[in-house]
Amino acid sequence: MPGGGLGRTPLLGQVIRQFLPWQHLLNYTEALVRVFNRHGRRDNAYKARIKILVKALGREEFTRQVEAEWAHLKNGPATLTAAEVDRVSAQFAAPAYETLAENDLCHLAHLREDKAFSRWVERNVQAHKVAGYAAVTLSLKKPGAAPGDASSEQMEAAADLAERYSFGEIRVSHEQNLILADVPQRELYTVWHRAKAAGLAAPTAGLIQDLIACPGGDFCALANARSLPIAAAIQERFEDLDYQHDIGDLELNISGCMNSCGHHHLGAIGILGVDKNGEEWYQITLGGRQGNHARIGEVIGRAFPAAEVPDAIERLIGAYLAHRHADERFIDTFDRIGIETFQTAAYQRNPAHPHQSRRVANG
Ligand code: SF4
Repeated sequence: MPGGGLGRTPLLGQVIRQFLPWQHLLNYTEALVRVFNRHGRRDNAYKARIKILVKALGREEFTRQVEAEWAHLKNGPATLTAAEVDRVSAQFAAPAYETLAENDLCHLAHLREDKAFSRWVERNVQAHKVAGYAAVTLSLKKPGAAPGDASSEQMEAAADLAERYSFGEIRVSHEQNLILADVPQRELYTVWHRAKAAGLAAPTAGLIQDLIACPGGDFCALANARSLPIAAAIQERFEDLDYQHDIGDLELNISGCMNSCGHHHLGAIGILGVDKNGEEWYQITLGGRQGNHARIGEVIGRAFPAAEVPDAIERLIGAYLAHRHADERFIDTFDRIGIETFQTAAYQRNPAHPHQSRRVANG
């Protein structure tokens, strides 16, 4: 676990133990779960989270209790051995990869000749550690549909693609898309055509259209506010593909309450639903990151009513476009110029797009 701060915002989570020998990974985890089991708020669905307990006890007391519990479990039956790790690892054998050239010549020709295919590859195909293979993102994002939703026909199509071209395996990403992890480069053009026919080939992986949203108030009993109409309004506002590609990499995450299933706090732009006297409002955070340098975003200020969220997001994007250096991502511009410029932009009233705003307000 990383141990210090990165820039102005805190790292995600709190370090309770700097180093742990791998042999104790399971028994230390058991100690953590035991402490949570003993004190966790099972009486209150809104507070039945380990982060709530850590905050209530304080990091030092939580750590003290975990370490005391671990003293009983250390070197017990759950202690890992090299033989056990080898046994489990053997269950995850690599598929039977072919020996292929680093770059497939037909694939390179398709890239040169077909701009739409090339754009899809640029966004939705990732490099592979095995020569001649690639990983493919099948997009489950499009305006008018909840992020991550797929029809039964699309699930059949995805299963067929996995069966034929990726060793029968599909992975679900937390970005709410499907991943074909092991596709030979020579098959990418065919996979693209078939994915396109099934509505699974939006070339928007990592762009604003690829936002994450939890089910929110439309489906979740814990929600403070709806997430899906906000997601739909933003996707509609930024539907233009060229505009999306111009904006570039941007993680925009939406949660309907502080349980954070949409990981709003890790989005470069995060949107959190809050309840103000029975009305739905939305707090915006900026600067969150996921991955090795995970970091929680900063709240920019007072919350927005639903109708104002798309305009506020558009003003934030406008500030980014006005200040970015060439090839600089949103998150990097934010890190370079700081939150103030974005705060100012977010709260500047803009009468543009009144019809979109009304549509969000009406759900
Ligand atoms: S974050 Fe979303 S899905 Fe999670 S509990 Fe809150 S409203 Fe429900």
